[in-house]
Amino acid sequence: MKTAIATVSISGNLPEKLEAIAAAGFDGIEIFEQDFIAHDGTPREVGDLIRSMGLAITLFQPFRDFEGLPDPLRAKAFDRAERKFDLMQELGTDLVLVCSSCHPQALGGIDRAAADFHELGERAARRGLRVGFEALAWGRHVNDHRDAWEVVRRADHPNVGLILDSFHTLARGIDPDTIRRIPGDRIFFVQLADAPRIDMDLLYWSRHFRNMPGEGDLDVTGFMRAVMATGYAGPVSLEIFNDQFRGGQARAIARDGHRSLIALMDDVRREEPSAVPDLPAIPARSRAHGVSFVEFATRGAEAEALEALLETLGFRRSGQHIAKALTLWTQGDIRIVVNRESTGFASSAYAMHGTTVCDIGIAVEDAAGTVERAKNLGADPFHQPTGPGELDIPAIRGLSGSVLHFIDEASGLSDVWTVEFTRSATGGADAGLRRIDHLAQTMSYDEMLSWSLFYTTLFEMTKSPMVDVVDPDGLVRSQALEAKDGAFRITLNGAETHRTMAGNFLADSFGASVQHIALATDDIFATVAALTARGFKPLPMSDNYYADLAARFDLTPDMLARLRAGNILYDEDARGAFFQLYSRPYAGGMFFEIVERRGGYAGYGAPNAPFRIAAQKRLMRQKGIPKR
Ligand code: MG
Ligand code: MG
Repeated sequence: MKTAIATVSISGNLPEKLEAIAAAGFDGIEIFEQDFIAHDGTPREVGDLIRSMGLAITLFQPFRDFEGLPDPLRAKAFDRAERKFDLMQELGTDLVLVCSSCHPQALGGIDRAAADFHELGERAARRGLRVGFEALAWGRHVNDHRDAWEVVRRADHPNVGLILDSFHTLARGIDPDTIRRIPGDRIFFVQLADAPRIDMDLLYWSRHFRNMPGEGDLDVTGFMRAVMATGYAGPVSLEIFNDQFRGGQARAIARDGHRSLIALMDDVRREEPSAVPDLPAIPARSRAHGVSFVEFATRGAEAEALEALLETLGFRRSGQHIAKALTLWTQGDIRIVVNRESTGFASSAYAMHGTTVCDIGIAVEDAAGTVERAKNLGADPFHQPTGPGELDIPAIRGLSGSVLHFIDEASGLSDVWTVEFTRSATGGADAGLRRIDHLAQTMSYDEMLSWSLFYTTLFEMTKSPMVDVVDPDGLVRSQALEAKDGAFRITLNGAETHRTMAGNFLADSFGASVQHIALATDDIFATVAALTARGFKPLPMSDNYYADLAARFDLTPDMLARLRAGNILYDEDARGAFFQLYSRPYAGGMFFEIVERRGGYAGYGAPNAPFRIAAQKRLMRQKGIPKR
């Protein structure tokens, strides 16, 4: 399978685009005419430049408003085509995309269009070129791939074929299985794009909101299964028009694109193996059982403050690393590692971000298989020299260069805590915290699609719809990703401005990272009592919040009083109830959350977030923590 991407999908000038596309591992490009025109170089030089980077020019696009015109417009359209053929020969590409006409004077008529394409095919054949016809979803007379196929069929010329684009088919709600009746060798090229489901004008939707397969809501997998079932053997190419991507980092966007294609074709292979018999197998999405540990890189007074907070949260200092300055804190199934090393990876993470979550351990079914899949998806493997007696735990780079370790039972990696840590004396009651409910990662809004793609292509996880969280100083978008059984949950919070709590944290920590860790209890009130006894100081909530709770929910006066006394936040969904308690911010805006889910409550307390954020900001202002 050859992969390609349209140059319009990536930001930068032509050489910058090409460099990013080549680095991401694509085999070829669709050259978007504007990108060529904007470049200062002859067509031959451009062709040589592209090939020197190891890329093929799989397609020249677009040629517009061609078919069905009355004379003299018709003759002019053929003249224009001849000029483009000249250019294609100079560039060194043999296929042109002709998109269905939007010309106000286009006459329509399937046979008229077919006759035009037959003649264009004749002219292309004389030069050894080929012509592909694509139905735009907003084409004047042809806006459905079934009609475009009928034009191509009647044109009856070996140099004229069909071009399919998942957006145009799926956005119009056309059943992709109708592609299965088209002969695969008559399909010259396939363009892929996903998009979020938004009810808007098709052209505007297509030009601004396309995204990578897996980032939107369209059934691109079903589309591609149908394409591959025809025996199609040409390139699989991305054509993404997206405002954010055009302004984004070329290399990151290109990498996301390549990742999306690898994951998509793997899904096609799994769902319809006979359609892609030659595709090499990669390990399946990894099944995550939960967060095995969270490691903080920290030093000095911040390390001491963090450990003091862990103590009031009921954690025990339960182990010390055999060779390194690592302390293990545990409670229930939760492990938190405090790393004070002054060399190695954690130390450089600290130097870069200050106190930060530098490493997350994820309990998986198969650690080696997870890394193998991640590598196929373009993730960077991570290695650090291991000392005597230490286990070599498979790892990759995650958010902002942080590390994700994968731990499984089958290969003995889950013994790391007894192998690498000496056990300290422990004792005393804990606070009833059982496991990590979720990790909340804060990032800039532009990074959210990248990271949701990263997680959903690597793990068996689904996305819930994005929600807006109102910060007094701006909007934060929040998206939850979770394993089907809820054992592994991550929330991505995208900040758009520095003035929000999340944005301020992002600026202070120089890049995306974990901002809060939510710890689950099975009895919030018992946990609150235990925490109070340990001197834990919760985030104080306002009386107004509790007055509003009384109005919104049918709570008994006793329940309301207990919530208010404990500074506990409350929410309900159709299934159950949710209780939340927050720590005060530490180390520049990080915090802990304590949650209890009752009756299968599925959310994250989003309705409470504005009040929690306001309370945090109030506290930070009182303490004189400067606000940008
Ligand atoms: Mg297209
Ligand atoms: Mg949370």
